[in-house]
Amino acid sequence: MKKLIVVLMILMLVCAGAMADGEKVTAVGRGQGINGDVVVQVEADAEKIYSVEVIEQNETPGIGSVAAEKVPEAIEQANSLLVDGVSGATVTSVAITTAVREALTEAGLDPAAFETVVEKAEAGEKTEAELTCDIVIVGAGGAGLTAAVRANQAGAKVLVLEKMSMVGGNSLKASGGMNCAGTKFQEAQGITDSGVEEFIEDTMNGGHQMNDLALVRTMAENSAEAVDWLASIGAPLPKVAATGGTTHKYLHSPEDGSPVGTYLVAKLSEQAEKLGIEIMLNTKATEILMENGAAVGVKAEDDAHLYTVKAKAVILATGGFGSNFEMMTGFNPSLANAVTTNHPGATGDGILMAEAVGAATVDMDQIQLHPTVYQATSMLVSEKMRSLGAILVNQEGKRFTNDLATRDAVSAAELEQTGGYAYIIFDQNLVDHNKSAAEYIAKGMAATGETYEKLAENMGLTGDAVAAFVETMNTWNKAVAEGKDEEFGRNNGMDDDLSTAPFYAIQIAPGIHHTMGGIKINPDTEVISTQGSAIPGLFAAGETTGGVHGGNRIGGNAVCDFVVFGRIAGEKAAEYAAAH
Ligand code: ADP
Repeated sequence: MKKLIVVLMILMLVCAGAMADGEKVTAVGRGQGINGDVVVQVEADAEKIYSVEVIEQNETPGIGSVAAEKVPEAIEQANSLLVDGVSGATVTSVAITTAVREALTEAGLDPAAFETVVEKAEAGEKTEAELTCDIVIVGAGGAGLTAAVRANQAGAKVLVLEKMSMVGGNSLKASGGMNCAGTKFQEAQGITDSGVEEFIEDTMNGGHQMNDLALVRTMAENSAEAVDWLASIGAPLPKVAATGGTTHKYLHSPEDGSPVGTYLVAKLSEQAEKLGIEIMLNTKATEILMENGAAVGVKAEDDAHLYTVKAKAVILATGGFGSNFEMMTGFNPSLANAVTTNHPGATGDGILMAEAVGAATVDMDQIQLHPTVYQATSMLVSEKMRSLGAILVNQEGKRFTNDLATRDAVSAAELEQTGGYAYIIFDQNLVDHNKSAAEYIAKGMAATGETYEKLAENMGLTGDAVAAFVETMNTWNKAVAEGKDEEFGRNNGMDDDLSTAPFYAIQIAPGIHHTMGGIKINPDTEVISTQGSAIPGLFAAGETTGGVHGGNRIGGNAVCDFVVFGRIAGEKAAEYAAAH
């Protein structure tokens, strides 16, 4: 079987290279299932997925094996990757969609072309149903999955509701890593100057001192334990680098260079499935149920049911509102025409539900633009690219900023350049060490050239800009060799120069990325009311909360936020549930 797959893959690479527009191609892709890789073979052209066949899987009979049958059928019928997963077999369901995405990319097709939201058939009258658990968790992104696993470990019976047909939310898109301080991985690499106090200082400086210091301290002080905990559930993050807006090396990522989001969501949902945690997909929470001033469950619905979920505690882990333009422009009208990197489910539901029961919010107008977004498809080009050595240049072929300054500063600098955009430049050495970079190239996002001149021409630079670009690259390589950026004072992401051909450039501009504001919580993740007291039984974690990131989030802090506060929410809600 393995041989067959290798032959098929080689065949597909050849086909992909030779593919003309509209031509039907076949390719193979893999996704990580419960018991190893799930391998699919996909036949598609630029507009249609003709067939999806699982050609290798070792999933749990009766659970994962059902997903292996149903999910491919659903993808074929809907001609979309946004299909319903199989409840109880989320890992396999995600593995199949991931494998189909990989196969499409492998075939030179764009998976984003197959992300049409599937219209549901008009539902008849919905049946009312009652469900009972200790803790109901709304949202199965990074924070919800972490809280679910932790609360289960603490002995609580947990039910997770997820409105989309797949788990992962925006967390799935996190490509860089997780900032942590004082970890054994840092110690193993001799990084001794990047401790909790430096992490707090960088986070507060990055957030323009608007952050809630108590929350930042909690995040930093618990980050090393959080990374150990991830290792304990089979999700180690041993590689350490610097990231944008930090002065030290905190960014922890997977050994094999995988994007951190897909890696952690797969590992966390695998753990949730192992522990028997129920995740109800396509089930949207609509309201928090209150009794005597305490949260006692939620109302929710799917296509066929109206649920009353009775629980001793509620955890909101619904993510941000970076896809809700009405809500965003209410706080910042200038964002009306911006592109967004957010998944379609980031509509601020948790914030609105919490406000309806008296919760306070903070920093709602603080909405982050990420400086490196490929505008045609709103695809984020990871900050890690710059941490690994990439630089930014403008149309005149020149650098214009410290490429690894905070996201707001780099975005503002870009908007001042001709056309309001820039290019991110990298080389083959970087591609060899970062899977995301290879993916961007496979998606046709990058111009390339065997020399700096050729790259400049292929980027569309003309006249003096070509020579200026060559000079920029030579000056940069010299700065790396000397460890000193005279021009812009960049002081990290300078371990490798950009001298290995071929060279690459992606045209990028700022796009909406993270909503820093949200529900007010205390360090125990209890939701705080507009009166200033904790609302009993109501907890929140992750992007739905505000205060951790202040006026600007540092790259790598979203993952730290969801793991640290997801764990605390799981623990505190379990304690609360046990006492009630
Ligand atoms: P975080 O990083 O804070 O976990 P994510 O965006 O990764 O945030 O995850 C939030 C998840 O919550 C998403 O999967 C999203 O679809 C889900 N979600 C949002 N609103 C609701 C809702 N009303 N009911 C159920 N799930 C929801």
